[in-house]
Amino acid sequence: MNHYDAARYRMVKDQLVARGISDERVLDAMRKVPRHLFVEEALREQAYGDHALPIGEDQTISQPYMVACMTEALGLRGDEKVLEIGTGSGYQTAVLAELASRVVTIERIVGFIPKVWKILEELNYRHVVIHLSDGTYGWKDESPFDAIMVTAGAPDIPSSLTDQLKVGGRLVIPVGNRMDQVLKKVEKASDGLAITTLTPCVFVPLIGALGWKEEGEERMI
Ligand code: SAM
Repeated sequence: MNHYDAARYRMVKDQLVARGISDERVLDAMRKVPRHLFVEEALREQAYGDHALPIGEDQTISQPYMVACMTEALGLRGDEKVLEIGTGSGYQTAVLAELASRVVTIERIVGFIPKVWKILEELNYRHVVIHLSDGTYGWKDESPFDAIMVTAGAPDIPSSLTDQLKVGGRLVIPVGNRMDQVLKKVEKASDGLAITTLTPCVFVPLIGALGWKEEGEERMI
């Protein structure tokens, strides 16, 4: 076991198990995915700390606990098709890829995509596809999804995303203002949506047609 492996096991024990994350599949996935490879070399020693880290373009790789919390809320069992909005570093994508049979991830910043593609290929996640697009529209071509995760803060829950959920499907999304949000879980039943609030959180804004406009401008909707 090298020192990154040891740091990763400590992260799972001290940050996740200690705070109540109990889904063994999620804990195993986060013991396995080498988070330090998803940040730039100068930040690798900080990759297993209890915080988010910058990944360039004013964006972040989310705090490990938040990754675990959102992933656990999706209740994945292995055979699901999952949509992720906000690929960023690709770390959350890799965790989802450990737990589902197909992952469709969407990113709006073109510069992230080649790096993420390379690392996911190196780690052999062949059941992941990355699209450059405005994820607030979802990805109709592969819908409906068993689970959807949005990793940026939205002003509300876009109906485009709940429309692309299967009956029985789950969506997790931070909802609030541009600075802070609460994590919402949406469960779709045949007779409607059940929405619960999980935890306060702080995400970068979801920028797009059904999200926020670029900094300093009004919302588009
Ligand atoms: N899950 C990521 C990780 O593990 O690194 C963290 C993502 S970061 C907090 C949020 C990401 O959402 C950023 O990369 C940002 O560019 C992206 N984003 C924001 N609005 C988006 C949109 N409308 N469509 C797709 N990606 C979006």
